[in-house]
Amino acid sequence: MALRELKPARRDIAAKLKYTDYREDLRTDFNGCCGYCDDSDAYTDSICFHIDHFAPKSQFAELETSYANLIYACRFCNMRKSYHWIGLDSTVPNDGSRGFVDPCDDQYDDHLERTAEGAIVSKTVLGRYMVNRLNLHLIRHQVLWNSRRARKLREEIDPLIERFKQAELPKSEAYIALLERYIDLTREIERYEGLALGR
Ligand SMILES: [Zn+2]
Repeated sequence: MALRELKPARRDIAAKLKYTDYREDLRTDFNGCCGYCDDSDAYTDSICFHIDHFAPKSQFAELETSYANLIYACRFCNMRKSYHWIGLDSTVPNDGSRGFVDPCDDQYDDHLERTAEGAIVSKTVLGRYMVNRLNLHLIRHQVLWNSRRARKLREEIDPLIERFKQAELPKSEAYIALLERYIDLTREIERYEGLALGR
């Protein structure tokens, strides 16, 4: 399946003085998720999310404040990507087997996908380069993806419980209790993840 639930898309944003001034614009355009791994910033403080320069600013200083070159990225992906770039041309991000694909580019999904269990895997040689360079095989990406699924399921179950309660059906009490235990459990798992994953 597709790696990202929603594809990021940069709007036309008026030029700003510093690249950090674009943080909220990036957060909106990347749907609150890392462009590379799709981890949500809901599990962390959004301030902990980094702003990645797709073509590194250390090599291409002229692109430091270019919105088209900025990516909302978790610190795990951004720190791994760092200054890495395959050549001397900012417009050539890969050679077909090495380098990167802009997460806002439709081609991103040609190279990477997610297994039914939530692991991020490569579909191509270039995809394999990105998995290794960005450490996309980290278990945290799989854990957070599954946690997001559990949260969505809980959001479906919560209103159902209320409807059961309001209908005052005694025979469903055991079922309601079971669902409430499930909800408590998923909340507990998320709280634990926040601690274990460095929120
Ligand atoms: Zn990431």
